[in-house]
Amino acid sequence: MSVDRRVYPRAELDLDALRHNARLARRLAGGASVMAAVKADAYGHGIEHVVPALRGEGVSAFGVANVAEGVELRDLGVTETILVFADPVEDQLPECASHRLDVTVGQASTASAVVRSDLDLSVHVKIDTGMHRLGFAPSEAAEALRCLTDAPHVDVVAAWTHLATADEEDASFALQQIGELDSVLRQSGFANMPTHVANSGALQRLPEAVQGRRFVRPGGLLYGLPASRTVAGGFEGRPVMRLVSRVLCVRTVEAGETVSYGRTWRASEATLVATVAGGYGDGLPRQLSGRGEVAIGEVRYPIAGRVCMDMLMLDLGPPSGPGAGVRAGDEVVLFGGSAPAAIDLADAAETISYALTCGLTGRVVRVPAPSNGFVH
Ligand SMILES: *Cc1c(COP(=O)(O)O)cnc(C)c1O
Repeated sequence: MSVDRRVYPRAELDLDALRHNARLARRLAGGASVMAAVKADAYGHGIEHVVPALRGEGVSAFGVANVAEGVELRDLGVTETILVFADPVEDQLPECASHRLDVTVGQASTASAVVRSDLDLSVHVKIDTGMHRLGFAPSEAAEALRCLTDAPHVDVVAAWTHLATADEEDASFALQQIGELDSVLRQSGFANMPTHVANSGALQRLPEAVQGRRFVRPGGLLYGLPASRTVAGGFEGRPVMRLVSRVLCVRTVEAGETVSYGRTWRASEATLVATVAGGYGDGLPRQLSGRGEVAIGEVRYPIAGRVCMDMLMLDLGPPSGPGAGVRAGDEVVLFGGSAPAAIDLADAAETISYALTCGLTGRVVRVPAPSNGFVH
């Protein structure tokens, strides 16, 4: 651990914030159980840190993208429900059964493989209500539900759908989707089938997505990452990740001189420039070239010139300004804590906060914050 702390950039995790967010999710969920979306290594935060903390707060189910991620969670000692969000292929079914992974069934070929298999499987029947990514068309749902519930070795846990606009200003399509799921189940004689529909945006904003449901499936809320500016309004989640690095060196660049590849940044006057460890090799989007700001102490400085693989440069301003106090070795916060939030840096890179944390590469060490919390 002491070695890890000298590696930069590193992602410090505020596990108190994570626990706060888990309690918030449980409160918003009412009578529904929280199924935490921990796919993509817990949105880049590291399942080995995130999952034990969530389990400690009574999170009773986990959602992952594929069978391999589900097996990894079992190997971490997770005993709770694990749902794989996408249909497995037929030859993965024995592994699902042996690791007790709940299986998504969203197409006829998966349904027949599950029924044929004779394996004891728990399934969640996915219905496509408008996302058009995975799931049975509403017209196919009744037959799928019938053949799965008729199979004695299959436990149909729930029917579910995924919402396309829960994070958008206008969430009316999401409400339409929820109505569609409920009406498909009513019309096919499965009105009492448990359901789940809510991602973080819906959990925060759409009571229809929560009340009377079996599960809610937040991801971003747990990590303190709003999916959009709309969700950021009234967002009560606390950011879990702070991305920290160090100044490698500081130099003065004279008027007319340029910084980094392609010479896209040019000093209009004598300017202090800090070189910081961290670049696209760490997962910082190269789209941040010449865009976005990061913090040294309480002061924010713009990124100057192109982001490199291992380094980026900051415009510290004139030698007479506050940047004059910056020294090699000083801590730089790229996002989180006193720095801009992940969503701010994501905006500058024309992406979303989820993509920023998911994109951090294996070179970025994930460590619980030293003080078990950091200043926001
Ligand atoms: C990722 C995912 C979620 C969580 O979405 P958030 O916006 O992070 O809350 C929920 N359901 C499914 C099917 C997902 O793939």
